[in-house]
Amino acid sequence: MSRGDMAKPLLGHRSTEGDPGATPASGRTIGVLGSGDFARSLAIRLVCSGFKVVVGSRNPKRKASLFPSAAEVTFQAEAVKKTDVIFVAVFREHYSTLCDLADVLAGKILVDVSNNTEINHHKESNAEYLASLFPACTVVKGFNVVSAWTLQSGARDGNKQVLICSNNQEAKRTVAEIAQVMGFTPVDMGCMSSACEIENIPLRLLPAWKIPIFLALGLFLCFFTYNLIRQVIHPFIREQKNKLYKIPIEVVNTTLPCVSYVMLSLVYLPGVLAACSQLYYGTKYRRFPDWLDQWLQHRKQIGLLSFFCAALHAVYSLCLPMRRSHRYLLIETAVKQAMEKKMNIWVEEEVWRMEIYISVGIIALGLLSLLAITSLPSIANSLNWREFSFIQSSLGFIALVVSTLHTLTYGWSRAFDENQYKFYLPPTYTLTLLVPCTVIIAKVIFSLPCIRHRLLRIRRGWEKGRYVKFVLPSATGEYSSGETSSNV
Ligand code: NAP
Repeated sequence: MSRGDMAKPLLGHRSTEGDPGATPASGRTIGVLGSGDFARSLAIRLVCSGFKVVVGSRNPKRKASLFPSAAEVTFQAEAVKKTDVIFVAVFREHYSTLCDLADVLAGKILVDVSNNTEINHHKESNAEYLASLFPACTVVKGFNVVSAWTLQSGARDGNKQVLICSNNQEAKRTVAEIAQVMGFTPVDMGCMSSACEIENIPLRLLPAWKIPIFLALGLFLCFFTYNLIRQVIHPFIREQKNKLYKIPIEVVNTTLPCVSYVMLSLVYLPGVLAACSQLYYGTKYRRFPDWLDQWLQHRKQIGLLSFFCAALHAVYSLCLPMRRSHRYLLIETAVKQAMEKKMNIWVEEEVWRMEIYISVGIIALGLLSLLAITSLPSIANSLNWREFSFIQSSLGFIALVVSTLHTLTYGWSRAFDENQYKFYLPPTYTLTLLVPCTVIIAKVIFSLPCIRHRLLRIRRGWEKGRYVKFVLPSATGEYSSGETSSNV
């Protein structure tokens, strides 16, 4: 998992934080047009950050009580006269109603904080629309990615990044300074053409999670159907036994570890494929195919979903003995054994198998928890690169090996028992082993000194078949130049 995923800003642009050219903006007067939720939270935050605030409302008398006493609430035209920077906390549909203020607004900075209700709702962004209505003003897009709640809750809570864009560098710098004084991290997103992208951000629903969630759901569906056929449909068709009661807990509980285990292996499989590609082409400078790139970028989410399924599996497993069906079956078995006059039912191998697989399962869950915790940005940021890579890469691989042991000790000899092949379908655990074992074998092969050494060289910039200039002294003592392959 790349650490950059956790450390980088929401969008990979330069942060203006710590800009040596930045000057303290606190103390200046800031205008806010509108008196709604956002305007109110903004005014509170600005006042708390040391700014003078003047709010422009269509009905200042009625709205004044909603604002802190330090903020002046007046008519729109009065408010904009008193300041050079005005936050437009009004919906796009009402921008045109502000056109009467065009003369007083001329030459001032307008901060467009608006959002849309749909992605790419309008042809032009709201900020570009505002700029077209007020050509004599300088429009800066910003603050739309923070909610009214975040503004009020202070810098400790919520998203701290404020994405800013404008065609005017000076205006952008002014708004970035204000954001910084308010405790936010301004992120320079470039010119006004980025406004559309910035406006779409609050509307996106878990963009980084979409693929991993679909992957987890797809795997869940496949394994659930497979287990349903084996545990419910097969006994119904072959023995006319109704085992539908198994669906809510047993079938789900045999499906969850399969999903978790395969997902965990899918965290490490793209790394193996990337290493294969680097070894094959003998360079690290060749771009990976897009699908592999995407896969590499989603490893954190895939890993977290793997942990989520493992945690659910642990809870479901703990609940298994609580079920009434379990108690009935236990009593039924006891009665049968009593009738058959069986006194000792202790099977040493079974006892040991269970002790080991539960113990190994607990260790695997512990390691997965550690991986999940260290992938949280606040924890990841407190680790140096070596610590982070040790936990995510080395401990993660150990978690995969331990999970494999858990699966193997769970399955034990079932793969060799022909009664386990329901409708000729092999036990589920044998299927789950395919990808993880491939990853483990590949990792073992990559750790062989000859391959490891070559991979390390490639990752340090060595390239197969790359020609380098060399200079050799001639017999006469003069130097002659030529070319050779670096890997010769
Ligand atoms: P709101 O509570 O409905 O407030 C909108 C304000 O616009 C009204 O209070 C009104 O103030 C003013 N306004 C000016 N001209 C108007 C007109 N012709 N008709 C109706 N109202 C008019 O909305 P909000 O939640 O504060 O959102 C304001 C802007 O901030 C929107 O563009 C929104 O996308 C953006 N935003 C909001 C949030 C949030 O968490 N709420 C987050 C990010 C961005 P007066 O009556 O005093 O004039």
